[in-house]
Amino acid sequence: MEPFIKRQLFCPGPTPIPQEIALASLDSAIYHRSDDFYKIFLSCSRRLQTIFGSDTQPLILASSGSGAMEAAVVNLTRVDDEVLALNCGKFGERWQKLLQSYKCRTQVLNAEAGQGIYPAQVLAALDKLSKPKALFLQANETSTGVRLPYEAIAAEVKKNYPELLVVVDAISSLGAHPVQMKSMGIDCVVAGSQKGFGMGPGLAFIALSSYAWSKISDRERFYFDLQRERKGQEKGRSAWTPPIGLLQNLDAALTLIDRAGGIDTMTTHHARLGRAARAAVNALGLKIFPGKDFYSDALTAISVPGNLDGIRLLDQLKSKYGAIFAGGQDELKGKILRFAHLGLVSQFDLLHGIAALEFALNDLNWACTLGSGVSAAMCELAAHQSK
Ligand SMILES: *Cc1c(COP(=O)(O)O)cnc(C)c1O
Repeated sequence: MEPFIKRQLFCPGPTPIPQEIALASLDSAIYHRSDDFYKIFLSCSRRLQTIFGSDTQPLILASSGSGAMEAAVVNLTRVDDEVLALNCGKFGERWQKLLQSYKCRTQVLNAEAGQGIYPAQVLAALDKLSKPKALFLQANETSTGVRLPYEAIAAEVKKNYPELLVVVDAISSLGAHPVQMKSMGIDCVVAGSQKGFGMGPGLAFIALSSYAWSKISDRERFYFDLQRERKGQEKGRSAWTPPIGLLQNLDAALTLIDRAGGIDTMTTHHARLGRAARAAVNALGLKIFPGKDFYSDALTAISVPGNLDGIRLLDQLKSKYGAIFAGGQDELKGKILRFAHLGLVSQFDLLHGIAALEFALNDLNWACTLGSGVSAAMCELAAHQSK
């Protein structure tokens, strides 16, 4: 990379890592079976509980986010359980595949790419089942930049099916969208370190409501046995050797989040970034890919106009400007550009991404006035000043 190009991530995970967080794992002289380490672990668990808004201690697992998804499935379902999965894209499909692998009788409610699913549709789908045990959904479908109305879905489902377990993959939401399990009636939330937390991949988090703990299944399991984990983690001890360095990073990340004002400040910040990103997209004459009820504050998926080459645009952004955006997957390849702003990113990081996008669009002869996206975003940011 040339010296005058700053490489920067704008993809929806991994997200940029602030230096203080990265440096926190340089001290490797720490033993994971020691009081020093248990203290760090417990302090992380306690602060995660505030972020999840859960009535029990979230568990920290050594895996990518998908590991926590699998943990949810193997601990909360049994073979032949009737379950409903919402599928708005690649990650919804992952719930479906996981549930089918573990032999649940899986009904799937699909949405068109770029669309979400409304609470009434979920109720209608549940009404067709005989004895549904659990509902699995994403809070934010990262592959299409769709934020589902998970709060309203959970509320409606709990009102009509109080015994149904509501399991939410908030891997790309936690930190960007408000997810408070107890007040929202969510029974299980999974998250991952490399999305909202400003640190590298390798840790996954899972929190269960007291009700979900009372519904743990008797399925065979080993590595992801949450009851075993819970017993140890109440004392700061994980069942297996934890990735010590990642726990040190997490400790530093949670300290930064607290210093910034905590989780509510963080979600307000992301709402502001999301609005500014969308203002920029409009000003550049581009279209936001998701339907208007489903805009995400974690990432903005942009439709690539038919006369633009989406693959070339991505490549131009990366090779000439060092700006690493994400494209679409499978049938959306070349058709959308995903501009992420979740994690520990500032308003200037956002403006950096927009400026890079404008340059690259200009290189590809897209008719837009240089600076118009940045200007629209700045006006929007100024109109919603943070404290
Ligand atoms: C990234 C992501 C995952 C998967 O996480 P991995 O860490 O890659 O296993 C699952 N769900 C959503 C919504 C995600 O954004």
